[in-house]
Amino acid sequence: MDYKKNTICVQGGWQPKNGEPRVLPIYQSTTYRYETSEEMGKLFDLEADGYFYSRLQNPTCDTVAQKICDLEGGVMAMLTSSGQSATMFAVTNICCAGDHVVCAAKVYGGTTNLLTVTLHRFGIEVTLVDQDAPAEELEKAFQPNTKAVFAETISNPAGVVLDIEKFVKLAHEHGVPMICDNTFATPINCRPFEFGVDIITHSTTKYMDGHAMAMGGCIVDSGNFDWDAHAEKYPGLTTPDESYHGIVYTKKFGKEAYIRKAVVQLMRDMGACQSPQNAFLTNIGLETLHLRVPRHCENAQKVAEFLKNHDKVAWVSYAGLPDDRYHALAEKYMPTGVCGVLSFGPKGGKEGAMTFTNHLNMIAIVTHVADARSCVLHPASHTHRQLNDEQLIEAGVLPDLIRLSVGIEDMDDIIADLDQALAAI
Ligand SMILES: *Cc1c(COP(=O)(O)O)cnc(C)c1O
Repeated sequence: MDYKKNTICVQGGWQPKNGEPRVLPIYQSTTYRYETSEEMGKLFDLEADGYFYSRLQNPTCDTVAQKICDLEGGVMAMLTSSGQSATMFAVTNICCAGDHVVCAAKVYGGTTNLLTVTLHRFGIEVTLVDQDAPAEELEKAFQPNTKAVFAETISNPAGVVLDIEKFVKLAHEHGVPMICDNTFATPINCRPFEFGVDIITHSTTKYMDGHAMAMGGCIVDSGNFDWDAHAEKYPGLTTPDESYHGIVYTKKFGKEAYIRKAVVQLMRDMGACQSPQNAFLTNIGLETLHLRVPRHCENAQKVAEFLKNHDKVAWVSYAGLPDDRYHALAEKYMPTGVCGVLSFGPKGGKEGAMTFTNHLNMIAIVTHVADARSCVLHPASHTHRQLNDEQLIEAGVLPDLIRLSVGIEDMDDIIADLDQALAAI
């Protein structure tokens, strides 16, 4: 869709023809009818495009994927049941047992678990790297069997802004694609493809849905990575797939090869598809993404400044603050705003953090971020409680760290609640 981002949020994806519903319909159907056996047969040979079973594709889901694809400026996208399955598919679409991935150390805890525990059990090796290290240092993580580099544009919960171009250059020098999780920045604040990223993943559960209603994920391909130029590394894309009568994805689908393969092979076999009902809800969220994200950022900026000057606060980490270590990177990669999530340490360490969270009124303790309602999480006692102190610090999570997701309520009410809870320490 050749419109600006604000218009794509509202009108992207669903393009009704004459007499069709104005609003994206929920195609609540697992299956699709065909006139002839031959027509159905062609679908199974990938000779014709069409729907046959909602585990692989569903029109509601594909329409929402198209909107996200347009927002990111990609060539093709697919929805998945969650952000986790988006990461899983993005990696396993090009990596199998015996392969290796370079991943930023400070990423979402679920991603670290997926890569270092579950995919490790599947025979995929991962090296975690300090994303702030110089290129010469990062270079050492690459191996002959490295097949992908993975990082988040803004890390959850540490708030590290990635030097995207540094990572893209390294990945490309080693002939592998750069995959970025763009959940926190959203395409409203950052479009990673403009900086050379090859594949983008999202947990649409966060800002895209924005109302804490629907789990979902998305993978978007820029179509720019030349799989054939590195054919020996990516046989799954460049050699015949016997389960489809020997088609070769890059030959048959060109720039769409990566997503097509993930749909017809991984989604077919693993089935982490999004429900059309969730896609419908995510689409309603997307219709206001361009309004909500700037408001989240504006509120977060004011909260960060308030906390910075508060005598019960030990430290604040938010790339929107001019003296933050990631401010310059944020100015470069996300000049219109960072995100609504920040982290800080109340005085009194882990105990102080717990006292603070227990005294909040409007701001709720929930395992979530990036929805309209302000919320907090204390990772050391919630999401990351299985990690020891050393692992916590490696993941960018200090024992006193509070992850605060600033919502779009009235600024004065958010600050008043924070202030009275801090007073309890
Ligand atoms: C939440 C999150 C995920 C996982 O997404 P789910 O939808 O919860 O499965 C992945 N990456 C980031 C950055 C996240 O915040």
